[in-house]
Amino acid sequence: MRFIAGKVETEMADDSDPRQARGVWTRRGFVGALGLLAAAGRAGWAGTSPESWRAGIAGRSVARGEPDYPSWRQAMPWQMYTAPRYPDLIVRPESAAAVPAVLREARGQGLMVAIKSGGHNVSESFLRQGGLLLDLGELQGIEVDPAKGTAWVEPALWSHGLLRAIEPAGWAFPIAHCATVPMGGYLLGGGLGYNHDNWGTLACDSILAAEVTLASGQTVIANERDYPDLYWALRGSGTGFPGVVRRYKLRLFPAPDTVMESSFIYPLSRLQEATDLLQAWAAAKPRDTELMMLLAHSPVADNEAPPLEQKVCIVRAVAYCATREAATATLGGLSGHSLTAGAVLKNELVPTSLRHMQEESVDTRMGLGFALPALLIGLSGEVSPLPVLGVLAGEWIDRAEFYLELTPTSPEREMVRALGQAL
Ligand SMILES: Cc1cc2nc3c(=O)[nH]c(=O)nc-3n(C[C@H](O)[C@H](O)[C@H](O)COP(=O)(O)OP(=O)(O)OC[C@H]3O[C@@H](n4cnc5c(N)ncnc54)[C@H](O)[C@@H]3O)c2cc1C
Repeated sequence: MRFIAGKVETEMADDSDPRQARGVWTRRGFVGALGLLAAAGRAGWAGTSPESWRAGIAGRSVARGEPDYPSWRQAMPWQMYTAPRYPDLIVRPESAAAVPAVLREARGQGLMVAIKSGGHNVSESFLRQGGLLLDLGELQGIEVDPAKGTAWVEPALWSHGLLRAIEPAGWAFPIAHCATVPMGGYLLGGGLGYNHDNWGTLACDSILAAEVTLASGQTVIANERDYPDLYWALRGSGTGFPGVVRRYKLRLFPAPDTVMESSFIYPLSRLQEATDLLQAWAAAKPRDTELMMLLAHSPVADNEAPPLEQKVCIVRAVAYCATREAATATLGGLSGHSLTAGAVLKNELVPTSLRHMQEESVDTRMGLGFALPALLIGLSGEVSPLPVLGVLAGEWIDRAEFYLELTPTSPEREMVRALGQAL
């Protein structure tokens, strides 16, 4: 009981659950711990000091009530919002090899386990009340076999990291539309990625095998032949997968020779027109083309502008073709639609690439980016050191190693800037 008692003391000092008065929390903490022990039927978490716990685990961890706990917990979700659920322990193994020991330890202590790869799931399903949060954030490795067109990827590898490693050999993959989406939850959830429709595949269809640690601590390779039930579940079970995926083996795709895009920007007040255009395009089923709409803050509108003018919608068609001529013909046909006349800005037949589009997805300066929340989360914890270094250097967008690669000149950025004048 020593640890639980210590936990209660420091819990209140670090104020990690400010909604609960001290007496109430104390009672609930003990009652909760007793319930857990009863359920586990053996001496567990409540009887173990963090020191003895940590001795068996290669990695870092923090227990509820310790001074670093609030910032660690806040750093778990990718988004700014952190659900009010408080795991007892957060454990971040230094490598996949440490995962079985964590699971065995959790079993021994009667702790339920929740798994996080990148923390992008907006439901924050990895954040549970009580139990152990297994944070796989260190597992970002990739091994590519360029001759066979396959790659082993670890679960916290970002889509940008996958693309960067495979594109020099002419390979591609239906990665998520934002550079920071990690492979762990993305693949388990199906994965709707760039050009997936033309390749005729969800991302999970290209999982050839996976290395999985089961609740027993045993690690297996699941593929079509071995552990076929696990292999089946890998492709779409999402948050219900009954094991820890340590790495996936993926089939890669030949990169398209030409990627070209056309975009049309509307103020949000003309959303109906924008969606009508998108639907008309979809009905025409343009060949080798991905259609999308992005809703974004207009970075050029000031706070006093009417709400509908503070937002824009961008209707975008991206053609993935063998030749420039084919892409030009497809996109040219789309921009001839009468509804494109209503766009305040047009950006037509622009050569681009998977890499360039990923870079744009985190470009805060064009108002579409997702990077700023990620940076702020990085500041609140230790999980994203590169952006944090960049922020500390004062010129975050240019200094951080990652962002050096994510700051191309973006034609859309210029479009969005010009939008302010157009509105
Ligand atoms: C900005 C942004 C852009 C996105 N773009 C796309 C997109 O283009 N296409 C698309 O399909 N989706 C997209 N998504 C959704 C994304 O695929 C899911 O949020 C996915 O869960 C993210 O993976 P993750 O590793 O961060 O999952 P996490 O949030 O870390 O985990 C979610 C759940 O998945 C399970 N899980 C995660 N990792 C493992 C593991 N290694 N072993 C076992 N179980 C595990 C756990 O149950 C966990 O609770 C996007 C999300 C964001 C925030």
